[in-house]
Amino acid sequence: MSPRLLVIGSSNVDLFATVPRHPFPGETLLGTGGARAAGGKGANQALAAALQGANVQFVGAVGDDADAELALAGMRAAGVDLDRVVTVSGAPTGLAIITVSQDGENTIVVIPGANAQVSAEQAVGAVERMGSDDILLMQGELPPKSTEAAVRAAGAAGLRVVLNVAPWLALEHDVLTAADPLVLNEHEAQLAVAEFGLAPEDGGPMAMARALRMAGAPSVVITLGAEGAVVASAEPASQVSGSRAPVSGSRVTRLPSPRVTAVDSTGAGDAFTGALAARLLEGDDLQDAAAHAVRVGAYAVQRRGAQPSYPRAGQELPGTFA
Ligand code: ADP
Repeated sequence: MSPRLLVIGSSNVDLFATVPRHPFPGETLLGTGGARAAGGKGANQALAAALQGANVQFVGAVGDDADAELALAGMRAAGVDLDRVVTVSGAPTGLAIITVSQDGENTIVVIPGANAQVSAEQAVGAVERMGSDDILLMQGELPPKSTEAAVRAAGAAGLRVVLNVAPWLALEHDVLTAADPLVLNEHEAQLAVAEFGLAPEDGGPMAMARALRMAGAPSVVITLGAEGAVVASAEPASQVSGSRAPVSGSRVTRLPSPRVTAVDSTGAGDAFTGALAARLLEGDDLQDAAAHAVRVGAYAVQRRGAQPSYPRAGQELPGTFA
C-alpha cells in the first residue's frame, strides 16, 4: 500500500459574509453576499493534499447536527478516508464565521464545538495504526493535549510529523521541535520565536526560520503571503566539506510567490500546507515540496472560499514569478 497522510484536525462549517470593509465594534454593516461551505484547517489541508493525489485519512469529530455532513462533504467527494471521524452527541459541529472584504483580507472567529472533543486516545489510536512511511499532519485547532499526545506517538512510531501551529498554540517544546517541518505564517513565527525566548538578529523571516531550527526543529517553513515562503533545513551533507560530524548548519531559502490577483486569502495557508505534505509523501525534498506549495497557495487566493479554491494535481498553476 502506498504511504498515507494521516490528518488529525478540525472540520467546520465556514459561514462567509462578503463585506465592503470590515465592521468596527458595535457597528452593523450590510454585506454584499453570503455562503456556507466546508472548512476547518484539518479538513482543508486533508482535502488540499487529497486533490494533489495523496492517499489521506482524516481523523476528527463532528456534532450530531445538520452541519456535520456539510463539514465532511468536500473530503468525502475527494475520496478522503473518513472512517475514524467520530460523531459527538450534544456538541455542535465546529463553526467559523468569516468576513471577507473587497481587498481580499479576512477576519475569522472559530467556534470549536465537536473539535474540542477530539481526545488524546482517539488521536494516538489513529497514529498507532499507521506505518513508518506514513506522515502525520496536524494544526493548532484541536485540544493541545491531544495534539501533543499524537505528535509524541508519531515520534515513537517513526512517522514524520508536519505541524502547522495555526492558530498559534504554546505546545510543549519537545512537540514543537519534533516537527519536520514546523509550518508557520509570519505572525505565528513571531510567537514561536518569543515562546523559545529567541531574539533573531534582524527579526526577519529568514532569521526567524534559522533561529527556530537552531532551537531544535529539524526544518522550518514560514509562509509570507504574497511574498511566498522561507524554508530552513539542514545543510546538505555534500556541502559540508571534510566533516563527518552531525550537520548543524542551516540552509535557508526564500521561495517567491507567483504574482497573482488575490481575491480571497481564506484557506491559502491550508492549501499550501496540504500540498506541501502531499509532495513530501511522494518523496520530494522540502525545498521542492515548498516550491510547489507556494504555487498551490497562489492558485487558491485567486478564487473565493477555502476548499472550493484548491487545485487538483496536474491543473495549471500560476508560475510567473514576481
Ligand atoms: P496564512 O493564510 O496561513 O496566513 P499566508 O498568508 O502566508 O498564510 O499564505 C500562504 C501561501 O499562500 C503563501 O505562501 C503563498 O504561496 C500564497 N499566498 C497568500 N497570499 C498570496 C498573494 N496575495 N499572492 C500570491 N500568493 C499568495
